[in-house]
Amino acid sequence: MSSVPKTKENLMKCQCMNCPTYSDKCKEQSKPELEELQNGNMDRTHAEAMFCAYEKSNCINEEKQCICPTCPLFSEYNLTNNYFCIQTGGK
Ligand code: SF4
Ligand code: SF4
Repeated sequence: MSSVPKTKENLMKCQCMNCPTYSDKCKEQSKPELEELQNGNMDRTHAEAMFCAYEKSNCINEEKQCICPTCPLFSEYNLTNNYFCIQTGGK
């Protein structure tokens, strides 16, 4: 179970959309889902964002750089892993 709460407030802080590892193709693909997420229920197991809280990505698959350490949630929740999108997802 992730220690990062799946809230809209936290989602707004997520830096994944600014990350080089989140490819343009995956950003394009995830648009409808992310809109739905922002307008709807956050309590789900999968989302193509905030990977420290949700599962791994279904799309991102090449590590380029992880900017999680620049994210406010990284220090707020004492996170230590990188590449949540590819390696671990939220736990
Ligand atoms: S720590 Fe990383 S995965 Fe979690 S919200 Fe921040 S940028 Fe996204
Ligand atoms: S989890 Fe890290 S590597 Fe993956 S998209 Fe977010 S910031 Fe980038």
